Amino acid sequence: MPQTKETKKKSTSGAKKTKASESKKMEETPLHEFFLDGLKDMYYAENALVEALKKMEKEATSKELKKAFKDHRSQTEKHYSTLEKVFKSLGEEPEEKKCKAMDGLIKEAEEIIKDTDAGTMTRDAALIIAAQKVEHYEIASYGGLAQLAKTMEHTKAKELLGQILEEEKQTDMLLTEIAENAINNEAEEEE
Ligand code: FE
Ligand code: FE
Repeated sequence: MPQTKETKKKSTSGAKKTKASESKKMEETPLHEFFLDGLKDMYYAENALVEALKKMEKEATSKELKKAFKDHRSQTEKHYSTLEKVFKSLGEEPEEKKCKAMDGLIKEAEEIIKDTDAGTMTRDAALIIAAQKVEHYEIASYGGLAQLAKTMEHTKAKELLGQILEEEKQTDMLLTEIAENAINNEAEEEE
């Protein structure tokens, strides 16, 4: 049957592929290159976010959100240094690569500050959503990178990326809580 033939063919070429990649150093594979690029992207992103969170803290209205942004900033600094450990675990020098997505998300937060009045809960409600967009970008990125690290058997990198991922998820949940418990209802009353 032709189907059997095809299956046979596939498994043969698969075996050849494995042999070829075995003779190559892991660091030279396209997937490893992509993985490294992804790490560089996040290394840039975390650094850019440290600066943005300073501004967001300053411009937020409620004490609660100011504190959340402040705490998030120290967490972001920690992520930046955890990424350095990830690079090290792979025998690579940490390097930043411009992350257009994070630049865009930060620009959005800056626009919110321009478009809302200082001292309002409306501004806080909008800033929370901007910050959550950032968290979701980080969750998607670290989720994918941790998965790749697992596939490529970079055990240490997988562990570290998994830690960052969990913290991003926590931050996202915290922001939801602040919005629900304190900010959104008050924002709704504003005229
Ligand atoms: Fe982070
Ligand atoms: Fe974060």
